Amino acid sequence: MLEKNAILVEGAFKEYYFNRFDFIHVPVKANEREFGYQKINSGMIRHLAMKNDKELHLLLMKEIPSDVYCSNAYYSFPNLPMSEKDWKGADLIFDIDAKDLALPCRKDHTVYKCTSCNDTITGHQSECSKCGSTKFETISVSCNNCISESKKEVSKLIEILTSDLAIKREEIEVYFSGNEGFHVRITSGAYETLGSQERADLVDYIMFNGTVPETFGIKKQDASKVSLPTTDEGGWRGRIARNLFASKAKTLKITKQITSEGYSSFQLKLEEIKRTMGVRVDPKVTMDIHRIFRLEGSINSKSGLAKIQCDDLDSFDPFSQACLLGHDEVQIVANCPLPIKLKNKKYGPYYSEPVSLPKYAAVYMLCKGLGNVV
Ligand SMILES: [Zn+2]
Ligand SMILES: [Zn+2]
Repeated sequence: MLEKNAILVEGAFKEYYFNRFDFIHVPVKANEREFGYQKINSGMIRHLAMKNDKELHLLLMKEIPSDVYCSNAYYSFPNLPMSEKDWKGADLIFDIDAKDLALPCRKDHTVYKCTSCNDTITGHQSECSKCGSTKFETISVSCNNCISESKKEVSKLIEILTSDLAIKREEIEVYFSGNEGFHVRITSGAYETLGSQERADLVDYIMFNGTVPETFGIKKQDASKVSLPTTDEGGWRGRIARNLFASKAKTLKITKQITSEGYSSFQLKLEEIKRTMGVRVDPKVTMDIHRIFRLEGSINSKSGLAKIQCDDLDSFDPFSQACLLGHDEVQIVANCPLPIKLKNKKYGPYYSEPVSLPKYAAVYMLCKGLGNVV
């Protein structure tokens, strides 16, 4: 990020951290967790220990980080090198990101920015019309559909966690990630000592990975011994049955149909179930038992929006509720060829033009690389 942009962004972050420290707390077992942070244009600093809110506040004021992280793991010695930390357990966490959902809307809100001349265009082109370069950076701007589709994944995840894994709803915390997705943290102690492989198995279960027609007695050459689950069974078996049979009365008819259609048709059906009912989480995040995860209440420098808890997921609007930076007007040259909506107000499109914007909108564009301070 250009120095002049960094100054404005850091100023806005500092103001937020100073005014809204009630939003930012160390999590439970704070003194057993590892903290880390980044500043604009520099690398990650980690292996820090933080005792309480006061120490965290001090760090935020002194360093004005662009991003702040805290481990999901607990250690005896969080500030020692990884091999000496003495891992004791880790919260079970999930990351759902709109960019992983292969949504058709993505192409409509992606800006292509030429890496040589910084010209921005919408819609993919093979070369820059200004300078002829073929290298583009892709930038995604806010989209309500991405948010509502991500929410659906969160709801599916909550359903599986509560009905199949005996996790209580009040043990599930849902956060907007601060950019284009959601983070889910399980506060129940029952899963905290699971290792990385067990967490990978859990992810496979939640995503509905690896189920084959053979699981239900359907072989490549012979589908006659099919044994399908019933709608009143628990877990995925019941879920599959409820998907296959609209009602109990239709069970026999549909079973006959599956037998006659054979292996590959049922394989396609299982793939469809995975696509529609499996939860698309990022497996790497859940498997990583040493991860430092974005701290709730902190600002995400990819957007200038905050990672905040969603008390009511359905009504949650990140582009107004997580947009918490200052309102005072600042001047930037905006190069944002798609309109963005923040705090229920539309900004842009702007084509390399000087504009006066509320700080939260200006910072959003600077963070996305779609503008420069005058
Ligand atoms: Zn160019
Ligand atoms: Zn979208």
